[in-house]
Amino acid sequence: MAPTRDTTGILSTRLQRAAEAATAAGVDALLVTPGADLRYLVGYQAIPLERLTCLVVPASGDAALVVPRLERLAAEASGAGDVVKIVTHEETDDAFALTADLVRDALQAEPATVGVADRMWAEQVLRFRAAMPRSEQVTAGSVLRALRLRKAPAEVDGLRRAAAAIDAVHSRMGEWLRPGRTEREVGRDIAQAIVDAGHTSVNFVIVASGPNGASPHHHTSDRVIEAGDPVVVDIGGSMPDGYCSDCTRTYVAGSAPDDEFARYYAVLLEAQQKSCASVRPGVTAQSVDAAARDVIAAAGYGELFVHRTGHGIGLEEHEEPWIVAGNDTVLEPGMCFSIEPGIYLPGRHGARIEDIVAVSADGVERLDTIDRELVVLG
Ligand code: ZN
Ligand code: ZN
Ligand code: ZN
Repeated sequence: MAPTRDTTGILSTRLQRAAEAATAAGVDALLVTPGADLRYLVGYQAIPLERLTCLVVPASGDAALVVPRLERLAAEASGAGDVVKIVTHEETDDAFALTADLVRDALQAEPATVGVADRMWAEQVLRFRAAMPRSEQVTAGSVLRALRLRKAPAEVDGLRRAAAAIDAVHSRMGEWLRPGRTEREVGRDIAQAIVDAGHTSVNFVIVASGPNGASPHHHTSDRVIEAGDPVVVDIGGSMPDGYCSDCTRTYVAGSAPDDEFARYYAVLLEAQQKSCASVRPGVTAQSVDAAARDVIAAAGYGELFVHRTGHGIGLEEHEEPWIVAGNDTVLEPGMCFSIEPGIYLPGRHGARIEDIVAVSADGVERLDTIDRELVVLG
């Protein structure tokens, strides 16, 4: 999908801000291989391959996108060529030496420090080290993090559309989730619905019934869902513009759950609401975690809430800010993250409630809005 003139303007501004941020951080050039940073900066969703694709963003001078010759058409089709010069390498070229020369040409000097993409393959990191032996390597994320952390209104819009799409899938859960079906069967139907709702990819489908619900990252299994089982359904995908959805609801299959479950679900609901309500500019990420954790601990379930309260979301399912004790990042308008406390009772069942929220000018917007009360299905 070629970018519109609007998109080209947005991407040019991002590239310029990345160069400015590199200068401010004392990093001479950023080397960005396929991943969310590359898509953020030039709109190119490249496939990570053994052949080098790498965006060079020098602190001064022109940026360039190095691609293997056979990827050139794909890079051009992405529209990246509208914001950056595309440089191709042939099968017999040393792509790392070629990229290092582009850095030197732009800087008119040997770089003292280069930022390599956080998720660059180790093999490539080491080959860049060999091509620029006098350059110290740092993570590009240390420079790009601040840019991606505060979402522009158009990005929040993207997350809002993603949330609406995943909410639409949850609202259809009664069509699939009932006693007698396996988690895997239900998961297959959900995956199809995620695509039908407008996502281009299914990122994960968790259907965790009964005792499986006590494992926060259980996926699906051949377990047959029984009447009275609580079922944790945590699902997400990526939209055509790259922004991700991620929403959890806990359902009950067939008939009312046991008393213990009903008791702690009420605690969880209150914790999730208090945590969401605590979000506004000026408070810290860890205070949002504490808002959920305090409610759960006060009810005696603190030991069973085994993970952080949430994670940032954007072009990646999990990115900064982490909503966790010890993170004193001060929230600002445009930051977007999940609030997903959970209570997990080993051997019995578990529950989690998750919404994506956006910090607004004076408070919070909950992007996922479907009902959070316990629903009995089937
Ligand atoms: Zn997770
Ligand atoms: Zn989730
Ligand atoms: Zn999540």
